[in-house]
Amino acid sequence: MIVMLEPDSPESVVSGVLQVVSQYKGVTPRTHVISGAESTITEIYLLGSTSQVPVEAFQQLAGVRQVVRVSQKYRMIGRHSGQRVTTGFEYNGVTFDDRSVNIFAGLCAVDTPQSVDAMMAALARCGIQTTRMGAYKPRTNPYEFQGLGASCLPWVFESAGRHGVKVVAMEVTHPRHIDEIRDALEKAGNPTGVMLQVGTRNAQNFELLKSIGQQREFPVLFKRGMGITLEESLNACEYVASEGNAKIVFCLRGVKTHLGDPHRNMVDFAHVPVVRRLTRLPVCVDPSHAIGRAEAPPDGLPDIFHAIGQGIIAGASMVLVDFHPQPEAALCDGPQALRLEQLKALQRYVQIVRGAYDEVVANGDGMGSESRAPALAVAR
Ligand code: PEP
Ligand code: MN
Repeated sequence: MIVMLEPDSPESVVSGVLQVVSQYKGVTPRTHVISGAESTITEIYLLGSTSQVPVEAFQQLAGVRQVVRVSQKYRMIGRHSGQRVTTGFEYNGVTFDDRSVNIFAGLCAVDTPQSVDAMMAALARCGIQTTRMGAYKPRTNPYEFQGLGASCLPWVFESAGRHGVKVVAMEVTHPRHIDEIRDALEKAGNPTGVMLQVGTRNAQNFELLKSIGQQREFPVLFKRGMGITLEESLNACEYVASEGNAKIVFCLRGVKTHLGDPHRNMVDFAHVPVVRRLTRLPVCVDPSHAIGRAEAPPDGLPDIFHAIGQGIIAGASMVLVDFHPQPEAALCDGPQALRLEQLKALQRYVQIVRGAYDEVVANGDGMGSESRAPALAVAR
């Protein structure tokens, strides 16, 4: 059950609700605050045996806007009736919601300080403050490059800070990687921030998901599992939120099937609106791992651009994309890496497609909703 309060409700309303909750045995409240530029919304989630708790017990309280019973599914991340706002958040000065588009362009795998610096400098030239840098690589084959691990973190974070990059998406494959990242950031004087990436291969690694959910410091980029249903991926993502961390972006990255050939995976970006309908999370697309190659048809736009277009035109607000200063020398996923010279074009392409999406939603003559819910920027 979720008790949604009126925007900007004072603390007294919250305590009034908590007081009523305390009368019901086996029910635990969890308060969730979503703050934005215009207003702050508080929702109180009632966990446990709520079937005997009457909706009226809260509905009649002053300051309560709506009470909804939710199914067992996606209690935290789900979009339940009456919830029009997408849960956004702000992290290290960057806003993540369904309005602000963020391009996380960077190295699939960190290899040398020179590559990292060249990537960061290219981002800085384009005014992009977000990147991806893989230090811990979950490889299919044990004999392939496994990533430099904690040893590269000091120079990766230093370079990010020097180039004004504020958020680095970085996959973690073990809970101890979270501590290593935290330590390295602290030692470097927190020159940048990190968004913890859950890779497709760990989408159902529940203990890892719990550890990521138990910390509130780093936001999370959750990638759907490549060989499980969307429903299973969303349930897995719920593990992170149910442990207390609601700063999540849900990422589509293609699914495994030979029907997707000649691409690396079957592009699943038609699921962007589905995720936006079923959850309140901002949605990211990763065209690099979906497509797996950097080639282009005669129009000159790589298949990767076309896939990005499919995601953005459907309402995705984040793109995770592989680049490398020398793709032929990359130690991981070189064939899908775009060249640094393509970054500006990619940025422009995303702006154009997003512009089309915004236009359709705002003035689409019935194509989209004219009265969109106000964006809320921050979740705590
Ligand atoms: C990655 O982003 O580097 C990666 C390994 O992606 P995925 O988990 O989607 O395969
Ligand atoms: Mn990769």
